[in-house]
Amino acid sequence: MGFAGDAFTSEEVERARRYHRPLYAASIAGVLIGLVVPALLAFTELGDAVYRPVSGLRWVPSTAAFSALVVMVGALATLPLSFWRYRHDRRYGFSTQETRGWLGDAAKALAVGCVLTAAAVTGLVACERVFSSWWPLAAWAGGGLLVLVLGLISPVVLEPIFNRFRPLTDEKLAGELRALSARAGVPVRDVLVADASRRTRKHNAYVSGLGRTRRVVLWDTLLEEASSREIHLVAAHELAHRRFRHVAWWTALGIAGTAAFVVVLWAALAWDGLRASLDVAGVGDPRVVPFVLLLGAVLELPALPLEAALSRRFERAADRYSLELTGDHEAYEEIHRRLATANLADLDPPHAYYVTFHGHPTPPERIAAGRAWARRAPEPS
Ligand SMILES: [Zn+2]
Repeated sequence: MGFAGDAFTSEEVERARRYHRPLYAASIAGVLIGLVVPALLAFTELGDAVYRPVSGLRWVPSTAAFSALVVMVGALATLPLSFWRYRHDRRYGFSTQETRGWLGDAAKALAVGCVLTAAAVTGLVACERVFSSWWPLAAWAGGGLLVLVLGLISPVVLEPIFNRFRPLTDEKLAGELRALSARAGVPVRDVLVADASRRTRKHNAYVSGLGRTRRVVLWDTLLEEASSREIHLVAAHELAHRRFRHVAWWTALGIAGTAAFVVVLWAALAWDGLRASLDVAGVGDPRVVPFVLLLGAVLELPALPLEAALSRRFERAADRYSLELTGDHEAYEEIHRRLATANLADLDPPHAYYVTFHGHPTPPERIAAGRAWARRAPEPS
């Protein structure tokens, strides 16, 4: 794979590096806090202290409330880090929010996290209470169903909590994009515009939803700045994710991941020594909540590089298809330069970080892939 180093100046590379390096340290610290907090709550008296106020309740409210409390303790522990990250984005001129707005978003995200975690973990505890030794099978089925339902409803239930969406009002562009989607074999009814500008100056577009809820979403920040040829390129890239069923793949992998998680949880809790040090009778015991969340965080670690590698593979396929569908290599290079500059994307990330966390190839890689495509492509007749 080539590296189009000449697409960016050394000042641009340096400025992106200065922006990202402290963010990398922050995200690694975030991962560590995400492990340490549930570990302390699972294995030390700290967990008992958090559990005590809800220990007198029946098992359903007790599990749900304890789950929410554990999520809140975690959020409190990472709050300074999250606030620093927000200030960092303010300093670089990305965030358009005042502290109040930022706190409002953080509170909403926390509420969503509490509700989803409480539902999932209470469901897990219920599996053992209802199905006893058959609980792993029930937990896998229930967890898989939850992944599927979230994929379906998140564009219409979760995303509107954070952003307003409106149909693309530019009739000409909307018509062109619908025609493009028909040519791609994935006709969409909805090309929506998200009011990302209430939060950030960064640019983005994405696809989400399954079946009837699927849609292509453009951030208003991108729509404001990019030319219509560039928007075609972005839309073609997002349509490729649709065409190649990448969202469905992620959903299927989520269901497979749920199975792996349940198997490891079952094996771990079959071990008397572990149950003794957690002071729990089994997975039907509400006191198991922090350990369940700890195990989720631990198992996420080996999955990170696999997810990142698969995501980069999907991105490369979508990039290639965006060129094939539009045949517009010039706009491809323009939009990738624009996205990189607007988002101050890291042009030369540290290798270990790239392998573990980067779900996209770097902009110079993407531009190099586009140039290679243009060299191979037949001349337009
Ligand atoms: Zn993509």
